[in-house]
Amino acid sequence: MSDFCQIQDWKLFSGSIRPWVIAGPCSVENRESLISEAFSLKKAGVRVLRGGLWKPRTHPGCFEGVGETGAQWLREAGAAADMHTATEVANARHVEIVLKNGIDAVWIGARTTGNPFLVQEIAEALRGTDTPVFVKNPMVPDPELWSGAIERFARCGLDCICAVHRGFHFYGENLYRNPPFWQIPVELRRRFPGLPLFCDPSHITGRRDLVEDIARQALILGFDGLMIEVHPDPDRALSDAAQQITPEDLAGILGRLKIRKTSTQDAEAAAAIDDLRTGIDRIDAALIDLLAQRMDISASIGLIKERSGMTVLQADRWNNVLERARAMAKEKDLDEDFITEIFTTIHRASMERQLKK
Ligand code: PEP
Ligand code: MN
Repeated sequence: MSDFCQIQDWKLFSGSIRPWVIAGPCSVENRESLISEAFSLKKAGVRVLRGGLWKPRTHPGCFEGVGETGAQWLREAGAAADMHTATEVANARHVEIVLKNGIDAVWIGARTTGNPFLVQEIAEALRGTDTPVFVKNPMVPDPELWSGAIERFARCGLDCICAVHRGFHFYGENLYRNPPFWQIPVELRRRFPGLPLFCDPSHITGRRDLVEDIARQALILGFDGLMIEVHPDPDRALSDAAQQITPEDLAGILGRLKIRKTSTQDAEAAAAIDDLRTGIDRIDAALIDLLAQRMDISASIGLIKERSGMTVLQADRWNNVLERARAMAKEKDLDEDFITEIFTTIHRASMERQLKK
């Protein structure tokens, strides 16, 4: 599936330049502040206004959005500031309201992407329209669920599809509200190279002071655009107060962000990269060769263990291997967690080889 419509051809972003930006409040709260915010965002260079009408909240009793009433406000704010509009839909009834009120684009929230029944229902409700669909990643770091949702929209004939990386649920201490686990959007891009990809640094960080850094990292990686939560008075926002920034903050951030291209016209730079890549390719070949040798030795050890009735797992030995690898990594200034991850994988494969008859 490679025939996704390129974002520069989307009507939604006509007249704007990279990075393509969708910005606006987490939740639509009232008509007046939304209209005045739309003008501030337009001034900051934003062409697509976002606002959540139905908010999926973890606990009941929290503000759950103004619902259908706000759809008209969103449309009015867009028309007043000459911007396009987007909101979240989580079922077919939401889609019906969005279409009836002339809202231009929809996004699928993280909690919905993980539910194939709802994704299918929404995709069918959108069939036959040219509504742009932004598909946030599911809460769990699973590229299958994310790509499955994208395929459902594509199969219903929608061409303007964009993936939005908003980080993943993580149980435990973390700097981020939803850590980015960049390898997941990277895997999505490997599967669908032509699929536009946005980053939502607001939901990744959960903290306004970190939004710019994640936005910068996303653009350096090659993301096409950003979805950012902006509120005129963030501390008083009815949802996601800690992560929203002001329109002025956004203008500052957009002014500082730099865009990179996927390739270079500079022949000297291109040649230098090619040269260095030859070195990488040589090392990769040597690594594979060494790993094959290591696995052969491991298989021989496995046979001896079997003959002499020893268990495959030798916890002390494994501990020593890991400790030694971590110490060597430290000496070479390599990240110890990175090396732990690699050795854990190698050790798993090695045990699997010894378990095979
Ligand atoms: C949102 O964009 O306001 C939202 C609820 O996003 P997510 O589904 O990423 O949590
Ligand atoms: Mn939000």
